[in-house]
Amino acid sequence: MPDAEEPWWEEEPALGTPNPLEQLTGPAFNANESLRILGLVAVTVTRLGEWPPGEEFTVPYPDVAQTAVDRICLAGIRRFCNDHEGDGPKYPRSLQELLAWCRERDVQEWGFIDLPADLELAGRLLVEDTAAPSRLCEELALRYKHEDTVGKSIESILKDHIREMYDQADAPEGSVAFLKKLVDSPILTSAQLARFKVSRPHIPEEVIAACYIPVHDRYYDRHGHANACDYCGLLRVMTRNKWRCEIATCPDHRRSRGGTQWDRVDHLYHATRPHREFLIAPRRLKRTADKWPMAPDAPRDLEGR
Ligand SMILES: [Zn+2]
Repeated sequence: MPDAEEPWWEEEPALGTPNPLEQLTGPAFNANESLRILGLVAVTVTRLGEWPPGEEFTVPYPDVAQTAVDRICLAGIRRFCNDHEGDGPKYPRSLQELLAWCRERDVQEWGFIDLPADLELAGRLLVEDTAAPSRLCEELALRYKHEDTVGKSIESILKDHIREMYDQADAPEGSVAFLKKLVDSPILTSAQLARFKVSRPHIPEEVIAACYIPVHDRYYDRHGHANACDYCGLLRVMTRNKWRCEIATCPDHRRSRGGTQWDRVDHLYHATRPHREFLIAPRRLKRTADKWPMAPDAPRDLEGR
């Protein structure tokens, strides 16, 4: 008789607790984990896009950036461990290389992850000519930050977030009026923002903090002027000494002249990029198209189209 303590069948060898390397590289080829990696990269890129110019972005990087780089390196090592063919790097190995991938390659070309096919993700995370986070990047970052948003549009995620903040401030009826204000006033001087804070109905402080940010240096020219697009009313960026609207769907996207001047001395604020891109721009574009249906045919600056 075998010892009662000893089973007579052959047991499957128990899997040991994964070590940190296995934990980090384990589910790299799982579609959800790949999406998480892409989310980490998108959050890193959007944060870098708003990083204060006077502040260094050096090692040690903020956690999210370091995790993104580490995670990709480990996923790459695991996937390409026996691949010495050597036709170019198969995955980025540093933050600098990662940003180059974001600017030069479509996410479909990122062979070190497996993106869920049903989401049909395509495009680059950085816009090639402005080096600003792309619309896809903003969307991925937002979905990463707000979990359980499958099937929800980005517009709904943003609107729900504002509504939740109003609910928490015990003023649920104010959110609709605020959304209208946000669309009407995507750019504010600090004096206008101060008036916003004392306006009625009351706007909770956290709503203002979540929706408006100081205008970054890249929206000013060397004279301290900022410039808003005539069509969508949002600030344009300065690229290669030309103004360019950031909204890819704006009919005046490539127009470099005209625009409304704003001045740095007024300490400008504007709506955050996700609010501008997904909430404000669609409404303002429609509003201008309704008011000004012949706009694209008017004698405008067609350079670069
Ligand atoms: Zn525009």
